[in-house]
Amino acid sequence: MSELLRAVSEIVGSGGLLVGDDVAARSSGIWRSDPIAAKAIARPRNTEEVSRVLALCNAARQPVVAHGGLTGLAESAIAAPAELALSLERMNAIVEVDAVERTLVAEAGAVLEAVQEAADEEGLMFPLDIGARGSCTVGGNIATNAGGNRVIRYGMTRELVLGLEAVLADGTVVSSLNRMIKNNAGYDLKQLFIGTEGSLGVVTRVVLRLREKPRSEDTLLVAVEDFPKVLALLKAMDAGLGGTLSAFEVLWNNFYRLVTTPPANQKPPLAQDYPYYVLIEAMGGDPEADHARVERAFEDAFAAGLVADAVLATSDAQRRAMWAIRDDVAQLNQHDPWFVFDVSLRASDMEQYVAEVNRRLGARFGQYANYTFGHVGDGNIHFGTAAGDGPEAYDDVKQAVYEPLAAIGGSISAEHGVGLDKKKYLRLSRSDEEIALMRKLKRALDPNGILNPGKIFDL
Ligand SMILES: Cc1cc2nc3c(=O)[nH]c(=O)nc-3n(C[C@H](O)[C@H](O)[C@H](O)COP(=O)(O)OP(=O)(O)OC[C@H]3O[C@@H](n4cnc5c(N)ncnc54)[C@H](O)[C@@H]3O)c2cc1C
Repeated sequence: MSELLRAVSEIVGSGGLLVGDDVAARSSGIWRSDPIAAKAIARPRNTEEVSRVLALCNAARQPVVAHGGLTGLAESAIAAPAELALSLERMNAIVEVDAVERTLVAEAGAVLEAVQEAADEEGLMFPLDIGARGSCTVGGNIATNAGGNRVIRYGMTRELVLGLEAVLADGTVVSSLNRMIKNNAGYDLKQLFIGTEGSLGVVTRVVLRLREKPRSEDTLLVAVEDFPKVLALLKAMDAGLGGTLSAFEVLWNNFYRLVTTPPANQKPPLAQDYPYYVLIEAMGGDPEADHARVERAFEDAFAAGLVADAVLATSDAQRRAMWAIRDDVAQLNQHDPWFVFDVSLRASDMEQYVAEVNRRLGARFGQYANYTFGHVGDGNIHFGTAAGDGPEAYDDVKQAVYEPLAAIGGSISAEHGVGLDKKKYLRLSRSDEEIALMRKLKRALDPNGILNPGKIFDL
């Protein structure tokens, strides 16, 4: 063991540093089969230990990659053999829930589902919800500015964080544990660490904003005949629901068919031949009035000719079954290989953009399947794309998906981040000046470039 690792081991205590087979036994991501390649995994127990480890690494120019639940989808937590992984897994306490202030304080390694449950026990809700809730951590959610299904109502992670504590590359602890909604006393420093993929600091503690738990949930699945009607339906439901719309998820026909046809377990609640299906959810505080409002908004949309067919969930089981259709991304495993994409663009560009991506995939591969779904209410589309015979097709598929975004001002990453996976394409979404400013920030906060080097952009 090197001198540096011995010193790190002394800081994190017995069992706190994993090396050799204990590192190789862990996979580098929950959907990946390759082992973690890092030279060691340090598992500090508190902020002070994180600070001391980073100070040592900074002095020794030792690169460090923060690890949360390793559920990220942009290769942003991949550690190279010369790097040290710093896992927050032993810093996972829910420190405090304040039901009056509606705040929750947690250590950054707390698992999202544990945070949701702690809020629920107090009759409150932490609105962030993603499929990886059982494994991802709030630190990882913050570092990726995670989105999910309820962004249209509650915003992305950025809007749910009131304060945080982070450790800079040189070990300086910046405690910015603000608990207020309003605080304009100078720069909002927490934003430096939200969505920056562990490249500017390691988040150690967070103050999250909770909301009142909804007392009603109404869920509908609606079949729609064309894309302009999908957008008109979004506007009609949002206006008609008076602020209670909490999800507007669109499934293109090919995705709906995939997840409602055996071997998938779900039965199709609506016929399988409509071009689009929209899962609409409303959450409110008065079940009877909310339900009546949903019915009225839906009837108005129907009268306006926006709806081809629809089913309204009348039980919790039906509601869950509708969400299971939306969430059954695992059906993409029927293909090998398949690649996942996460882009955003103006809603008015979506129909033509999807057609253009499909045209490019057809021209390059002949045979392909491009399952399309997403949080259209947030301008966010996901593709699950099966094309080519092996993983080497990935670069060509990326080009087909990302290149058309440049001309329409879209983003190569709506919610998953950039990491290594999309680094080559960052220039399609960000100007030279924007990237130069990112570099300036990185150099100012991490002059030796030890934090997650090589991710997002090269220095
Ligand atoms: C089934 C599934 C569904 C998903 N659905 C969504 C979705 O709907 N929306 C969405 O946005 N994402 C989604 N994701 C992606 C992923 O879950 C999120 O990116 C999540 O926020 C990552 O959290 P994590 O703890 O697993 O982070 P990791 O994967 O461990 O790390 C991700 C990045 O955060 C950094 N990081 C981790 N912890 C810290 C810390 N304490 N301080 C500083 N940096 C840190 C890492 O260095 C890395 O750069 C999904 C993933 C899966 C597998």
